[in-house]
Amino acid sequence: MSNRIQTVTGPISPDDLGTTLVHEHLLIGWPGWESDTIRPGPGRSETVSICVDRVAEMKDVGVTAMIDPCPNDLGRDVELMADVASKTGFQIICATGLYKEDLGGAPYWKFRQSSGGTANEIAELYIRELTDGIGSTGVKAGIIKVATGAPKITDYELMLLEAAAIAAKETGAPIITHTDEGVLGDEQQAVLSKHGVPPHRMIIGHSCGSSDHDYHMRIIDGGSYIAFDRFGIALFQSDEQRVASLLKLLKKGAASQVVVSHDSVWCWRGQPFPNPEAMAPLLEVWNPSHFHKRVIPMLEEGGATAEQIRTMLVDNPRRFFAGDPLPALG
Ligand SMILES: [Zn+2]
Repeated sequence: MSNRIQTVTGPISPDDLGTTLVHEHLLIGWPGWESDTIRPGPGRSETVSICVDRVAEMKDVGVTAMIDPCPNDLGRDVELMADVASKTGFQIICATGLYKEDLGGAPYWKFRQSSGGTANEIAELYIRELTDGIGSTGVKAGIIKVATGAPKITDYELMLLEAAAIAAKETGAPIITHTDEGVLGDEQQAVLSKHGVPPHRMIIGHSCGSSDHDYHMRIIDGGSYIAFDRFGIALFQSDEQRVASLLKLLKKGAASQVVVSHDSVWCWRGQPFPNPEAMAPLLEVWNPSHFHKRVIPMLEEGGATAEQIRTMLVDNPRRFFAGDPLPALG
């Protein structure tokens, strides 16, 4: 049995999914961006052209597919994704889901919750976006996004995890997560499992926010995919540290459970950084070709094989979306 993958330009077979980065963003907007009326951000044609250039940069290094796991409440624009995907022939998978409590669109859903709204109501939204499409766009989500903050999972976020599980069970769609500070990924795994989601249907995101090998191995041993998906963001961990942590997992034979990306953001609703000069060193490497240009050589230097790198970039995303069981460690 093999599931189809729902891309923003239509369904494909997992066998046709190419070299895949699991977490990049065409466009995001922090809730409240629309209040900054004097700094609206780039217009539509400029946004499209920036995204088309970024995709060209990815194709130049051999990347042919990505997940943009932008949740519904972070300025998600699936028509932009579909437009860019059809202009470039690039495979883009978009998400349905809601962001963590402190930085997402929680006020609306907490208002609903205060008068009886439930995880079921949110699951109904996710299921609709996965099966019928998102609003009137005709674009269908191909994955469910969940997010937690730190240091603990809030009641609101527990409701979102439950909603994601209900939608995953109903539709067979897989789940990708956001974690803060490299913690709680194992708890996300436990909560989603408790609600009936098989662990190999989850990517535990931003796990490279931690250098704790035991934490990484708990996620691996729990049977989920682990994402090292913030290469280039030195603010949280250096790439040297990420590579060292990843090499330890490869030595344990865990290559078949690791996926990679940058969490790069190409366009912002409103304006991103008030001081772009200060951000220049980050922006230099925080782009979606960084893994191929600079990180693969670091991994190879540390002993990673071409086969392990292909496994992380091609085989794992295919197997994850197909829903096929994990191979044994080693
Ligand atoms: Zn992200």
